[in-house]
Amino acid sequence: MAEVLVYVDHVDGAVRKPTLELLTLARRVGEPVAVALGSGAGDTAAALAEHGAVKVLTHEAAEYTDYLVVPKVDALQAAVAAVSPAAVLVPSSAEGKEIAARLALRLGSGVITDAVDLESGDEGPVATQSVFAAAFTTKSRVSKGTPVITVKPNSAAVEPAPAAGAVEALSVTFSAAATGTKVTSRTPRESTGRPELTEAAIVVSGGRGVNGAENFAIIEALADSLGAAVGASRAAVDAGWYPHTNQVGQTGKSVSPQLYIASGISGAIQHRAGMQTSKTIVAINKDAEAPIFELVDYGVVGDLFDVVPQLTEEVNTR
Ligand code: FAD
Repeated sequence: MAEVLVYVDHVDGAVRKPTLELLTLARRVGEPVAVALGSGAGDTAAALAEHGAVKVLTHEAAEYTDYLVVPKVDALQAAVAAVSPAAVLVPSSAEGKEIAARLALRLGSGVITDAVDLESGDEGPVATQSVFAAAFTTKSRVSKGTPVITVKPNSAAVEPAPAAGAVEALSVTFSAAATGTKVTSRTPRESTGRPELTEAAIVVSGGRGVNGAENFAIIEALADSLGAAVGASRAAVDAGWYPHTNQVGQTGKSVSPQLYIASGISGAIQHRAGMQTSKTIVAINKDAEAPIFELVDYGVVGDLFDVVPQLTEEVNTR
C-alpha cells in the first residue's frame, strides 16, 4: 500500500486536532507516515501512532521556530524524497497553505487547497472541494507528480486506529532560503478560553441583528454553554462590535463545524462562503424571509434577544 505523508501541526509535542483528522483521511488513500518538526517533535509519536501513523519522521531544529515556513518546506521535500508518497496532506491553516504551495512548486506537481473530503481513485487521491461560495462541490486530483493537498479542519472525524508509529529521524539539509526571513517576535493572542474558530466543533455567530458590541455577551454566553467558538458577520465586525479575527465568510475565516448557529445574520452570499459546509446549520432571525433560512437545517423565527438567552439557559440545565 502506498504511503501518504501527513504534516503534523503540534505545539511542543501536543498534536493539534486537525492533524488527527488528516490521519483519518490519509488511511483512506494509503498508509499514513507523519512528519513532525521542531521542538517536541518526538513527543508527538504516541498520539500519532494511536491514530494510525505507521511511521513518524521527526526532525528537531531551532530553524523551524526561528524562521518562517521555508525550513518546513525543506523538511517535507526531504521526506517526499525518502518516502515517495502517494500524496502529502497538510492542515488548511494560513501557514499550512503556504507550506503546501511552496512544496508543490518545489516538487513540480500541483496543490489542492481546502479539501473537505478525500477518497482514493484509480489515478491517485481525489479531493472534494466546496467552491464559488459553496455553490458547487468539485472533485479533483493532481495530474502530475506528488499531490499536495490541504484539508479544512473538521472535514473528518478523529478516529483511533492503533498502528506501529515507528519513530525515525529525518535527515534534512536546509536550503539557502531557509534562513531568509527571521521571526523577530511572537505575540500570542489573548486567550478567551474558547476553541480556535476554524477548529471548533460548534460555532455561534452574531451579525448586525446583535445590535452592539455589548450585546455580543449573549452570543458568548451561548457559545460558552456549548463549548463553542464565537464568530461574527462582516457587518458586526465592520461596526467594531467584534474582532476581525472572528469574522466568518469570504473575507474572513472559513469554518466547517458540526454545528453552526447564526444569530441575527441575514445569510449574504459572502457570509455563506465561510460557513455553508457546516454539518448542521441553525439560524435565529426575526425575519422569516431572511435568505439564511434557505440553507438551514433548523430555523427559529424570533427575536434573538428572547431566543438566545432561553437556549443558553436550556443548555446550561442539561
Ligand atoms: P444584515 O444583512 O444587515 O442582516 C442582519 C439580520 O439580522 C437581518 O436578517 C435581520 O432580520 C436580523 N435581525 C435584526 N435584528 C434581529 C433580532 N433582534 N433578532 C433576530 N434577528 C434580527 N460578510 C460576511 O459576513 N463575511 C465576509 O467575509 C464578507 N465578505 C464580503 C466581501 C465582499 C467583497 C463584500 C462586497 C461583502 C462581504 N460581506 C461579508 C458582507 C455581506 O455582503 C453582508 O453585508 C454581511 O454578511 C451582512 O451581515 P449581517 O447578516 O450581519 O447583516
